[in-house]
Amino acid sequence: MTEAVEKRARISLVTVFSIGLASVLFVFVLLSYFSFTRLLSFESTLTFVSNKSMPKLIQIGQLYSQATSLIESKQLLSRSSSFASKRLAEQQLQENLNSTRKASKDILANEFLDTQLNTIAFELDEFSTLIEERIQTFDSIALVEAQMYELNLQATIIEKHSPSTWILGFSQALVNVSRVLNEDKLQRVRFLFLQLKKQLVELRASAANQQNNDKRQRLTTQLEALLFAEDGLQALKIKALRLAGRTLGRENFVHNLIVDYVAQMEFVTKETEQNITLKVASSVKEMKQQTQLMEYLLAGGVVILIITVILFQQRVLKRIRIFNLIVRNKTQGFEYKTMLDGNDEITDLAAAFKEFTQTIDLQKRELKKLSMADGLTGIANRRALDIRLRHDIELCSRQKSHVSILLMDIDCFKLYNDNYGHIAGDQCLKNVSKIITDSLPRESDFVARYGGEEFVCVLPNTDSQGAIKIATHIIAQMKHNALPHKYSNVADYVTMSIGIASSNPTILLDQETIIKHADNALYQAKENGKNSWLLYS
Ligand code: GH3
Ligand code: MG
Ligand code: MG
Repeated sequence: MTEAVEKRARISLVTVFSIGLASVLFVFVLLSYFSFTRLLSFESTLTFVSNKSMPKLIQIGQLYSQATSLIESKQLLSRSSSFASKRLAEQQLQENLNSTRKASKDILANEFLDTQLNTIAFELDEFSTLIEERIQTFDSIALVEAQMYELNLQATIIEKHSPSTWILGFSQALVNVSRVLNEDKLQRVRFLFLQLKKQLVELRASAANQQNNDKRQRLTTQLEALLFAEDGLQALKIKALRLAGRTLGRENFVHNLIVDYVAQMEFVTKETEQNITLKVASSVKEMKQQTQLMEYLLAGGVVILIITVILFQQRVLKRIRIFNLIVRNKTQGFEYKTMLDGNDEITDLAAAFKEFTQTIDLQKRELKKLSMADGLTGIANRRALDIRLRHDIELCSRQKSHVSILLMDIDCFKLYNDNYGHIAGDQCLKNVSKIITDSLPRESDFVARYGGEEFVCVLPNTDSQGAIKIATHIIAQMKHNALPHKYSNVADYVTMSIGIASSNPTILLDQETIIKHADNALYQAKENGKNSWLLYS
């Protein structure tokens, strides 16, 4: 398997959580946007309903009632029997027309309805003219009737002075006239007038041999003129009947026009209502769609949020807890076995921490080494000696074996320093330490600088005889290396005196005692003339 395949793909937590949080943010921005637009469309629907639709519907209702009241005004006009009542009806009609026209223009703006209203106005005008003619005709008829009653009055006066049968005929004629006036069939009216004409001929004949004939003849002639002159009752009655027919026809026509107009208006009203309903319904539908979209978005947002939270828990919190355990264990000196999986910032952090603790460990070891070493010679120092000596004494006492030490002191070293200088003295100390180190045969043997120009060897599992052998060997090696020292009182090379002390299984010595013994032996060796060894006894 190649390294690339073994290595886990890098998944950056920053990228993952940036994407997660950005998605959540994006979803909530979208949600806010939709909520806002939804509110706006809700507001516009409400505004549309309250500012336009409702007032329009109310206005349409008013317009409708105005249009229907056109019929009432028209009926009022048709019923008017005098010019005064006709003027009143006309005025009302005109007002109705004007307000209907204005409202229709404002609300419906329907050209067809406007044209129809104009037609209605025109027809109403015509109708009004007919009504006027009718009133005039009725007035004329009433005038003729009054004149006939005047003739009747004159006839009774004549008959009072000289009564005759003529008056019977005259009264019968007048009765027949009022019958004709009550008649409303043209054919019948014509027939009755023909009868009247014959009756008048007979009346003239009956008056012929009567007293006051001329008066009766004149009254008969006057009656005849009232009935059959060009503008007589016959002509007026026929005109009135014709006018009644035309008026009725015109009235029906206008009535139908108005009814039609109202029906059209009803249709337009329904259409407008339907438009409003449709508009509101489409707004509601749109709002429902937006609500559904918002629900999906919200669900999506929640899912992304949950995934982000789970990821955060699994990939960040849990692993930070493991990392924390690793750090805590490490600071307490243990290794935490569980390793962090993955390849991201946290594993980077753990790796960096591992590297850091390794460096620290290395530095600690270095520092320990440095604190245990002698700065000049590089061999162990007094502190290291203390530790090692205690350890070896304990070990040997447990193992019931011997441990020996050699305490060595360079002879006449003050003279060396004084004559060769301090720097040469230092170099000499280095050379001597090397000679001693090289003279020790075992791996377990240990050498330390005890202080100044003094050294100590710790020899575990070595009895006094073994220690004497090594001391002899060291003195011989000093001779063999022969570091020049022509100012020495002992030889012309650097020599050493050695004090030997041993701890054996029967007499166990502690650290201080064995050093003291070796020091005593060393003192004796110096006394004996230096460049020699002595075993403490
Ligand atoms: P003896 O033969 O009786 O041991 O006499 P000595 O002169 O060796 O002993 P003494 O105690 O009188 O002198 C020890 C000298 O060792 C004194 C000091 O100048 C020298 N010395 C101690 N430590 C150092 C060191 O680190 N470097 C150098 N160059 N000299 C040192
Ligand atoms: Mg000394
Ligand atoms: Mg000395």
